[in-house]
Amino acid sequence: MSLPRLLLLSLGGTITMTRSSGGGIVPTLTASDLAATVPGLDAVAAIETLSPLRRPSAGLSLDDLIGVARTLIERLAGDLDGAVVIQGTDTIEETAFVLDRLVTSDKPVVVTGAMRGPESAGADGPANLLAAAIVAGSRAARGLGTLAVLNDEIHAARLVQKAHTALPSAFRSPLAGPLGLVIEGEARIHVRVGRSLPVVGPLAAEPPPVALVKIGLGDDGRLLAALPELGFAGAVIEGMGAGHVPEALAETVSGLVELMPVVLATRAQSGPVFCRTYGYPGGEIDLLRRGALSAGSLSGLKARLLLQLLLRAGLAPSAYGAFFAEP
Ligand code: ASP
Repeated sequence: MSLPRLLLLSLGGTITMTRSSGGGIVPTLTASDLAATVPGLDAVAAIETLSPLRRPSAGLSLDDLIGVARTLIERLAGDLDGAVVIQGTDTIEETAFVLDRLVTSDKPVVVTGAMRGPESAGADGPANLLAAAIVAGSRAARGLGTLAVLNDEIHAARLVQKAHTALPSAFRSPLAGPLGLVIEGEARIHVRVGRSLPVVGPLAAEPPPVALVKIGLGDDGRLLAALPELGFAGAVIEGMGAGHVPEALAETVSGLVELMPVVLATRAQSGPVFCRTYGYPGGEIDLLRRGALSAGSLSGLKARLLLQLLLRAGLAPSAYGAFFAEP
């Protein structure tokens, strides 16, 4: 049987970082450098490599990701069987989410990285890359959208979060757990998720800034009130619990809704924004009535990216709700 054909596309991150003379580690290695260090990779896939960027993942932009998505759409329409995107772990949950919304192919796109650099003891990059290639080349992973594979766990893009700053087991999907595992060189999928609604069609070049505002105890709302003047085109509010803000902020939310789309998410680690439980001013019923849109179960980080994509797609705000809904 012939091996699956995979594209390894590297954007940088710790997995590519080596010691610099200036101190600390910096991105230096390419996708082909990395592929050469993974024992057994040539036995699981025929690899092509591409290294468009060498950056820490905090330096990636939405434009970079739209460019990556275009490359993947084009290449997956050909004879590739899947793709692995290599990047820094700090923003994998965001990158995977954006690719999931833009790349509609059934062929697997897997994002991976490493928590430890290639020169450290116990570097996790090679194992993560091998596991990612196994998943990207597997038929079992088809139709699941973009996945994040680290520590032999297979996570759905819409669910995955970085939950620790240091451990190789940093990635979690707190709402539902990982979809599966890589065991004995095989992708084993235990749970299948529906695909999220994709954002298709041309995207405007200018990224409209969308603010992400986490509400803390006693917040007086001055940051929210300043958003229009600061030039923001949309706002995501990470409210307390099931989507709540102090009563004093409810009017501020009403004012904002007049000027821009406002999405209500939760600052809690996991769980949906409610829609019919709390009736006090500033509770979710009140805020949704005032015109805020629910982020559903999406984290504030993911809701912010989705709102940016919808604004760039030029869709009517009345169409936004379907994109935030559970698939
Ligand atoms: N700071 C790094 C990055 O995201 C962390 C990592 O790759 O694990 O680029």
